[in-house]
Amino acid sequence: MFVGHYAAAFALKGKEKGASLGMLFIATQFVDILFFPFVLAGFENLKFVKNFTAVNDFNMDYYPFTHSLMGAVFWSLLFYALYYFIITKKNKNIAIVMAIAIVSHWFTDLIVHTPDLPLIDGEPKFGLGIWNNKLATYCTEAVLLLGSLFYYLKKTTANSNIGKYAASGFVAFLLAINYLNLYVLPANDDITSLTISALFFYFLFALIAYFIDKKRT
Ligand SMILES: [Zn+2]
Repeated sequence: MFVGHYAAAFALKGKEKGASLGMLFIATQFVDILFFPFVLAGFENLKFVKNFTAVNDFNMDYYPFTHSLMGAVFWSLLFYALYYFIITKKNKNIAIVMAIAIVSHWFTDLIVHTPDLPLIDGEPKFGLGIWNNKLATYCTEAVLLLGSLFYYLKKTTANSNIGKYAASGFVAFLLAINYLNLYVLPANDDITSLTISALFFYFLFALIAYFIDKKRT
């Protein structure tokens, strides 16, 4: 899953106003931010198999550190500790939503991935396989994002004219990027350039989310 992960970020921000939407964008995508460099470093494995699914050529046969349920829980606890003890100095609510954001990645990946998500390492592996249908993949991510945007807009108030429209415009932008990604751009099967472009977009989206969130209270 790509932009659909940000649904959890918008929803958690609606729930806990003290959390930074920009950091929630990083947190919901955190295990993917680690995954690509881990593949480059040889810790995890991504094989490119032509038409492995309808939406990409990714055969991920070994990625327990970032994409096992236990891995997700590990990073989530680490984020909780970091937020609780260091960043917020004992704000439990913010630390909890950051931790949920990290672990949400595994559950949203579960919807689209083919059965390749382990609990710890090896079998059994899980995945509902929506990636086998391109339109269903696009619609699933869109519905998740639009639903969470609606909730976020309901729970927060614009403090300027920009604040009224920026979040909706941003979600439209994310959906357009996902359209290009799924329907227009050729498959990128080069791990180095894939890593660079993935990290570029993850951080760009987080930065935009950070500024948009400043326009709402
Ligand atoms: Zn992932």
